[in-house]
Amino acid sequence: MSNIDELLRRHEQGPDHGAPGVPTPVPGLHLAVVTCMDARIKVFDVFGLKHGEIHILRNAGGIVTDDVIRSLAISQRKLKTREIVIMQHTSCGMMTITEDGFRDELQADTGLRPTWSVEAFTDVEESVRQSVARVRLSPFLALTTQVRGFVYDVHTAKIHEVT
Ligand code: ZN
Repeated sequence: MSNIDELLRRHEQGPDHGAPGVPTPVPGLHLAVVTCMDARIKVFDVFGLKHGEIHILRNAGGIVTDDVIRSLAISQRKLKTREIVIMQHTSCGMMTITEDGFRDELQADTGLRPTWSVEAFTDVEESVRQSVARVRLSPFLALTTQVRGFVYDVHTAKIHEVT
């Protein structure tokens, strides 16, 4: 049995099968959080969130990529969000690889070199600043957007703002 089968078993046995219980797709807090896919980050718990309150966009690193800008533009223009939190974290796997090293690895194993940027980084605060700047400079996001960047400590569960 695969772990996907395990998920399906849990879904069937769940009390409400994850029934939405929220009447609108518009996030109640009009806010989007961009963060890493790291399994240690419990986004709902970190911010004391209730179902239906925010958009959560996750990828490797919590990086504002072109595809994150795509989602944020839709989030703002069609679903009325206006504030954005960028939250990267300590001990991120993106600090254990390098841009060229990972591209070389993929090319060596597959014969193909990716056209996309790996977005590896060494300084998490600088990476947060870069992502915040990408939001601020994007012509596709509202000029009135409030955007703030944070680092989450995976050992203490504390967050601090990056200025
Ligand atoms: Zn990470």
